[in-house]
Amino acid sequence: EALDRIQALEPKLHSFLCVTAERALEQARAVDAKIAAGEEIGLLAGIPIGIKDNICTKGINTTCASRILENFVPPYEATVTQKLAAADAVMVGKTNLDEFAMGGSTETSAYGLTANPWDLSRVPGGSSGGSAAAVAAGECVISLGSDTGGSIRQPASFCGVVGIKPTYGLVSRYGLVAFASSLDQIGPFARSVEDAAILLQAIAGYDPKDSTSLKVSIPDYTAGLKPDLKPRGQLRIGIIKETFGEGLDSQVEQAITKALDQLQNLGAEIHVVSCPRFRYGLPSYYIIAPSEASANLARYDGVKYGYRAEEAENLMEMYTRTRASGFGAEVKRRIMLGTYALSAGYYDAYYLKAQKVRTLIKEDFERAFEQVHVLACPTAPTTAFKAGEKTADPLSMYLVDLMTIPVNLAGLPGISVPCGFDDNGLPIGLQLIGRPLREDQLFQVAYAYE
Ligand code: GLN
Repeated sequence: EALDRIQALEPKLHSFLCVTAERALEQARAVDAKIAAGEEIGLLAGIPIGIKDNICTKGINTTCASRILENFVPPYEATVTQKLAAADAVMVGKTNLDEFAMGGSTETSAYGLTANPWDLSRVPGGSSGGSAAAVAAGECVISLGSDTGGSIRQPASFCGVVGIKPTYGLVSRYGLVAFASSLDQIGPFARSVEDAAILLQAIAGYDPKDSTSLKVSIPDYTAGLKPDLKPRGQLRIGIIKETFGEGLDSQVEQAITKALDQLQNLGAEIHVVSCPRFRYGLPSYYIIAPSEASANLARYDGVKYGYRAEEAENLMEMYTRTRASGFGAEVKRRIMLGTYALSAGYYDAYYLKAQKVRTLIKEDFERAFEQVHVLACPTAPTTAFKAGEKTADPLSMYLVDLMTIPVNLAGLPGISVPCGFDDNGLPIGLQLIGRPLREDQLFQVAYAYE
């Protein structure tokens, strides 16, 4: 069914960069055989899943939506996809993204746009736009994305699905092509909170292959799901007051306010809290993320991976030609920003300062979490915008992630759950932010709300 739907919808949506139909059918038949033989089946047995194309899949092209990796076939498998295979999930294909996950609309992909299923003239968000659109359109039941500054939550919001960025270190990054290593996390997309919880269950956990992986036991995420938040007043939710006001679309504001009323009716106690340094998240992110990216992307030199420019007369020329023609404009912008910020004489003024601000933002969250269990705010200031609307102005594109970025800087878990539509029929997302490793609480609140 998923493959039929992919065939019917892909000409319009382009959520996938490659569809692995034969392999999917093989995997599905293997599950059937297990069932027929009376063998035990995995947590995700037979469930069609899409995988963002910056997650390495052994023997299957992994491009990061970049020319520079157009013919890269990983010789190894990411930990998450290994876990999915062990859970008997069926991968249907690799999904489109902004090149190297740099962007907020999937428009920087070297392989074309993905459309928002709710309005084909609009973007699905990004960078995990393909994963969000594929789930929203029913091309697969669940999918994986990666979130460095909002790339799971923002497209989830734009496409009307659930998306969660786990606590930094909960899900192994082994096999995730690095963008900004101190911020990157893999996480689920699903059409319901329960499905997202089940998918996180399957991929979370310590991995000795990722040095930042946390040695923690994983709770049963579906065990605590119930239709309300009672006993009344036990769960406290804090509205981040700095996320309201200028720049926030009035219909998004209304939907969030309504959602908070509903959470109160369900039994939560609602407070207003302040995170005064929240707004410095964006400028510090655009120092830290490009700095890390400039180092991580140094490896694409035309020698070790995929694409190499032709007709170079010496090694240096080969490097520069390869990188000049292999990377798109946004990726080059990030490499230049990062290289500049890290260069001698500027390090203290930019990178070090940004890291200090990062600590202050973390402290704001810590203080807020002394009062409440979960924080709430919009996922994005607007609903999905038109394709092409922001491509000429990088800063306006960066501003879309104003509300998601601080969560990555602090390493916290954050979920986006659909909370209504604007007058154009476009979905709106409510963002819930949790204490470290309290994904269980995020699922509880989101499930009761949904
Ligand atoms: N849109 C942000 C950026 O361009 C976040 C991307 C992400 O989370 N991968 O960097």
